[in-house]
Amino acid sequence: MNFNSIKKMQDMDLKNKKVLVRVDYNVPLKDGKVDNTKRIVATEKTIKHLLDNNCRVVLIAHLGRPKGKVCPEFSLAPVAAEVEKLFGVPVHFAKDCVGPEADKVVAETKNGEIALLENLRFHPEEEKNDTEFAKQLAKHGEIFVQEAFGTVHRAHASTSAVAQLLPSGAGYLVQKEVEFLGKALENPARPFAAVIGGAKVSDKILLLNNLLDKVNVLIIGGGMAYTFLKAKGMEIGKSLVDDTKIEEAKQVMDKAAAKGVKMLMPVDFRVAKEFSETATATDVDVIPADMESMDIGPKTEKLFADELLKCKTIFWNGPMGVFEFPNFAHGSFAIADAMIAATKNGAISIIGGGDSVNVLKKGKINQKEFSHVSTGGGASMEFVEGKELPGLVALAK
Ligand code: AMP
Repeated sequence: MNFNSIKKMQDMDLKNKKVLVRVDYNVPLKDGKVDNTKRIVATEKTIKHLLDNNCRVVLIAHLGRPKGKVCPEFSLAPVAAEVEKLFGVPVHFAKDCVGPEADKVVAETKNGEIALLENLRFHPEEEKNDTEFAKQLAKHGEIFVQEAFGTVHRAHASTSAVAQLLPSGAGYLVQKEVEFLGKALENPARPFAAVIGGAKVSDKILLLNNLLDKVNVLIIGGGMAYTFLKAKGMEIGKSLVDDTKIEEAKQVMDKAAAKGVKMLMPVDFRVAKEFSETATATDVDVIPADMESMDIGPKTEKLFADELLKCKTIFWNGPMGVFEFPNFAHGSFAIADAMIAATKNGAISIIGGGDSVNVLKKGKINQKEFSHVSTGGGASMEFVEGKELPGLVALAK
């Protein structure tokens, strides 16, 4: 899937239309108020474009995991006030996303105004991709716009079924995701490097295999690196390992060699005696048998950074160490710094969501320093794994 293969909202005749927009307003709440408006602000360009076209904008979203039941703590009501503040137009909140209450509120909403409908996931039919439920949602619009990249890997009524029922296009947020992730995979500026970390090898095998068909350099760090190092016969002490994945790790390394992909792995380590927030870090070249490695060491940081500075496209997913503990966050920050330096040199830098974004938060690193920080953890992973995402398939030209 690439930028040219999806339908885009700005190519549709939107003037004076009633437009149903799936947004990602899964925001943190505190004391009944929105604690962080970032996701709401992120939809500004798309919603402004619709308001500029004198559309009646009907927003649908989910919040939390109410599992198909009405749970007041997952109500989108607090979000309505923030949307109204941001756009300065009346926002009509409906206490249900389908049925007479929703129909009434949508009917009351005028062109140039916004309706926000209650949490989609209060209905079990949403996550079942139920056609009848999607038909009721589709009644709220003449056009459907998909703006919630974080949910496009799910076949839900508001991502898949509804898009079959209305003329549909991608909003600007989805377009940006597909543009950056799609281009990196299909036509990257080279050399192209992927930096993959995180804890679980099993979660990343598909990702690694798909990336090996695309990249020039594959850098492995994080807890998953120790399964690879063990597969190479190295001493890993008490470091995290998945013994059931040693063979697959070997296959990844063989595939890299066969494809001429340069593979880099840690050459030194920050180790500790126990897995604890207060553990002190010791730099070593060889992991002692009674110790656990919780981060890459300084030589590795330099090795990885030097390589990244030679690259024109960099994709990063997964921390290099236990970044939640201050003494073991340095390796992950070093990758972020190297990517920022490479970006300043003209490289395209992409952060693939999930825990890598948490690294930026922890280090108070500005997301604007990178070319693209994906908003969808699971969705961006599945995109880069080469899977077809139901919410994007539904927008295919
Ligand atoms: P994932 O969700 O697979 O991307 O993994 C993210 C988690 O990996 C984070 O919570 C890190 O603390 C953890 N992690 C990274 N490096 C290590 C390591 N060397 N040992 C144990 N856990 C790690």
